[in-house]
Amino acid sequence: MNISALPDLFDAVKARRIVLKIGSSLLVESNGEARREWLSGFVAEIAAMTRSGQQVIVVSSGAIALGGALLDRTANPRRTLAAAQASASVGQIALAGLWSDKFAAHGLTAGQMLLTLDDLEDRRRYLNASATLAHLIEAGVIPVVNENDSVATEEIRFGDNDRLAARVAQAAGADAVILLSDVDGLYDRPPGDDGAQLVDTVDGIDSKILAMARPGSGSGLGSGGMVSKLQAAQIAERAGIALAIINGTCDAPLAHASGTGRGTLFLPQRSDTARKAWLGGRLAPSGTLRVDSGCEAALRSGASLLAAGVVGVSGSFARGDLVTITTMKGTKLAQGLAEYSSHECQAIAGKREEQQADALGYAPRPTVIHRDHMVLL
Ligand code: GLU
Repeated sequence: MNISALPDLFDAVKARRIVLKIGSSLLVESNGEARREWLSGFVAEIAAMTRSGQQVIVVSSGAIALGGALLDRTANPRRTLAAAQASASVGQIALAGLWSDKFAAHGLTAGQMLLTLDDLEDRRRYLNASATLAHLIEAGVIPVVNENDSVATEEIRFGDNDRLAARVAQAAGADAVILLSDVDGLYDRPPGDDGAQLVDTVDGIDSKILAMARPGSGSGLGSGGMVSKLQAAQIAERAGIALAIINGTCDAPLAHASGTGRGTLFLPQRSDTARKAWLGGRLAPSGTLRVDSGCEAALRSGASLLAAGVVGVSGSFARGDLVTITTMKGTKLAQGLAEYSSHECQAIAGKREEQQADALGYAPRPTVIHRDHMVLL
């Protein structure tokens, strides 16, 4: 039943529910024209997948690239946030129209969902988005999701649809994500270099894999690049979701990937409970707690975070906010919901329970972050 190779993603039993993320450079020419023919072929492939019993969710980029050209062909639509937002506003309506028309030609209905980072960071709104996705899928609709770029501000943006696709996959309870890109997948060194090898399977992202990604994307039209794809893969692997990067530039890219198996497949590593998966995928922590090595070992073996192990507090957070836990070296170790504000954490950092009441002026809580509200990264 488990997904172990790329062609498994096209098997309705192994990957019943699947998110397909399409990058800007596949949908929009560099002159700003929509790539209608490519899209027609691609939508025909999706229609075939749905006939075989797969449930498909589309995460589509392209609003900024499409709208930018409609507004001013000569200027870079991403030159300022305001310009990108205006471009997205014009482009999104065109993009939604394209998808809707192409699906209608196959008797399929598309439903648009525009999400911001906050919609998926906040638990209540996340559950709400999740319920809408479930309802659309049950009704046989193909959800077409994008970031709500025309309202999202810099601080609360995903900025790339790779991580959005991984978060949508979590919210939808999907089995797999395919990121369609303009490269074949992850290479062990810059793809132009002599002897660069495509990595076909990644069984757990480690520092060696992370070092293979360099910032920036090939086409310049989107904002993704390999760094955000690996971040998406990390969100997915912790949530028990398989993720693949494939090249979308050819005609019928899905048939090509399923036939040749070419691409990079990231195997799922854990299957956290739904709530822990949501917590682990959250992207906007309000602060950081640095812990000593004894505490690090305790957390790795499943313990809660106690004040005695905290050696540093940074950022400003309130009780209940998301914070990152780092090692002495500054490596991210875990994230979770703080039981104390940053101010209180400063007062009790390094102190044993019996010393904490004095520092706080009231009886301390047993943990700084309880294991039930914490996820190892
Ligand atoms: N949401 C952006 C758009 O529709 C694309 C983000 C990305 O490039 O991943 O244009």
